[in-house]
Formats: sequence, structure tokens, C-alpha cells
Amino acid sequence: MKIVDLRATTVAMPLEAPLRHANGAHWGRFVRTIVEVETDEGIVGIGEMGGGGQSAQAAFAALKPYLVGHDPFRVEELRFKLANPTSSLYNNRTQLLAAVEFACLDIAGKALGCPVHTLLGGKVRDEVEFASYLFFRYPDAGTGRGEVRTVDQLVEHALELKREHGFRSHKLKGGVFPPDHELRAYRELAKALPGDTFRYDPNAALPMEEAIRFGRAIEDLDNDYLEDPTWGLNGMRQVRDAVRIPLATNTIVVNFEQLATNVRDPAVDVVLLDTTFWGGIRACVKAAGVCETFQIGVAVHSSGELGIQLATMLHLGAVVPNLTLAADAHYHHLVDDVIVGGKLSYRDGRIAVPDGPGLGVSLDRDKLARYAELYQRLGDYPYDRDPGRPDWFAMVPNQSWADPEDAASGLARPGGATG
Ligand SMILES: [Mg+2]
Repeated sequence: MKIVDLRATTVAMPLEAPLRHANGAHWGRFVRTIVEVETDEGIVGIGEMGGGGQSAQAAFAALKPYLVGHDPFRVEELRFKLANPTSSLYNNRTQLLAAVEFACLDIAGKALGCPVHTLLGGKVRDEVEFASYLFFRYPDAGTGRGEVRTVDQLVEHALELKREHGFRSHKLKGGVFPPDHELRAYRELAKALPGDTFRYDPNAALPMEEAIRFGRAIEDLDNDYLEDPTWGLNGMRQVRDAVRIPLATNTIVVNFEQLATNVRDPAVDVVLLDTTFWGGIRACVKAAGVCETFQIGVAVHSSGELGIQLATMLHLGAVVPNLTLAADAHYHHLVDDVIVGGKLSYRDGRIAVPDGPGLGVSLDRDKLARYAELYQRLGDYPYDRDPGRPDWFAMVPNQSWADPEDAASGLARPGGATG
């Protein structure tokens, strides 16, 4: 079998409300590039990539000469064909490789009539558990609803998500407001949801000393882990030495070199594997094997997925024996999806692993066209800017926090409506 074509389509998928994070915000929508890899046998595989609010369509178009004529079953070769470790220093193709890998695995599964998890060694579980992934949010620009800013709003939002989806683990995305506000919010969450577990992730925004202070102030709670409280392997080592909570990361261990460093001189206890950051599902399975050997915990990172990437996370979660922690997903913040049948649903905080051939999800052509048109209308958004603070940009460590008393008055919308 040979690849004969590669098509990329950028879509904008509306969110319930703009999601705030330490570097800025998702401005009421995700911008994702959907990839279709076509073969000479008529089988088409699908993949997906993010890109910080920007289209990756041009980058995929540039890959076409590399892929035409390649056998999609030869997935390992692609790592070197597209993103070998030294050429990748120049062209940063790891995430592009990931999207192409998803599509090739999808093709292989469809050709063989088996799900991707079978190609990866077979599933050890039928469903994957997810955490609630709670964000501070601006109100939706259209309805004025969905704001999460105060402690009461956050607790109410978490209780509603638990009622709706059954989450038993709750992740607070912080790094937006002063640490004392977020500390109060986190502790109130824990009080409102007894018996559940919690994780806090300020995206490495805290100064090291502040990260230690925050960590010590939550030691008595049921924490899964403390995620990227500060920046850098050495900063995290200092926090790890001072705080009695496992540390997790999706920023400082995102490749095999860093994983090796972390084995030799531990800075984190849990690695959040991201099927795009690591260059594909298979890279994550390999990394999970290293983690299993060295007793490093494993979880699944979310980089803002639609249903195709969610399927890759489910297949990964299905085959990794040492996945004992709930996965993260932004998925429940989406208002719709581009896959046939609409959004996959949670049951008791879990999503069933697709068992159809390949990734087990397929593109809804009408929805792809609809959300491609929405992207044409709204365009990109600056992931690393805050629509409510147009002159601000993030520093690491951050020392200029958003004001929790400011009810998003004067919310600026450069680049179009927030969705
Ligand atoms: Mg994180």
C-alpha cells in the first residue's frame, strides 16, 4: 500500500466559554487542523493537530512530497523520514509527525479490520477514566454565561460537571489569579467534593518558593499530584524535595532525553504523556514502558483535542498497563465535534475505548465543512495572549496576575469574536 495524497483542513470548534490559563486563553474556540491521508487502495486515515490557536495547514502541505509513495504500515520509518532527532532541531516537525502517525495507524487498522489498540499490543481496559479539567473561564461572548472566576463559581461548575459526567478526579488549571485566590479555590473544591481526588496545574507559572508554599498548603488534601508548579527540572527538584506530594509534568519531560534525565536525577514522579507532544501514540507507549520499568507514574495529557485526538488518547489509555491515574481532556468544554455521531460521551467519568477498525472514529463531512467555514470566518487566535488584558504577556515565573475581582469588564476581542 502506498500513500497517494495528504489533505489538511483547519477547523474552529466553539467552546462553551473562553478558557483562561497561565499563558493567556483559548478565546472561545479551538483551532485544529484535521489531516486525511489517502492511499492507493482507497483507504483514508485521519489525524489531528493543534498549534496554539493557529492553522497547521501549510505545514502539512509541505510534507506531501515526503509522504507520497510511502507505505503507511511502515510507521517507525516515518520518525526518521519526517523528524529525525537532528533535523528536527531545524524544522520542529514532531507534532506533524504525530498527526501523520495517527492517520497511518488508522489506515493500518482499517486495512486489517482491527482497532488501533490491537496494533499496539491489545487493550488491558475497555474504558479510560478522565478528570474534570476545571478552568477559570470568561463568560461566553454571545450568551454572557459560563464565567468561572470566583471560588463559588468554580465549586458550582465542578459540582455540575460531576453531576453531568461523573468525574471522581478534578484538575484545577491555575496560574491565572494570585496564588492565594487559587489556593482558596482548590481547598474549597476539595471540601465540596469529599472522597474525590484533586490535582493543581499552574503551567509552571509560580516562582519556586511560591510553588513550595502552595504545595505545603495542600499537603493534607487528597492530591493525585501537583503538576508543573514551577519551571524547569531544577526548580521542580527543589519543590519535590520540599513538598510531600507527587510532582507531575507535561512541560519538562516531553521527550526521551528528558525522560532519561529524570530517571537519573528525578524531578517528577508522574509523566503526562501527550500523543502529539511526543510524536505519536507509539512514542507514548514506549515512554510508558520506560516509566513502568523505573516506577514513574503515567497519566495522559490533553492539548485541546477534538474527537480524533481524543481517540488516540483512548487507544493509548487502553494499552498502557501502568495508567493508574485519570486522564485529562478539554473535551467536555467543546460544544460539538467533527466525528460521526457527535461527541463521545462520558459515563461515570469514563469514556469507552473505540473498538471499530483503525481509530474507530470517522469524519462527519458536514460538520468538517461547517467548522472549516467557521475557521475561515474567525481565523486564528493568540493562545498566548489574554483577551481581557491585551497589553499583558506571560513571564516565567509570572508576577502579574489577573484580578479575581475584575468581572471581565472591557473584554477585548482582537482577531474576531470569542465565539
Ligand atoms: Mg499541564
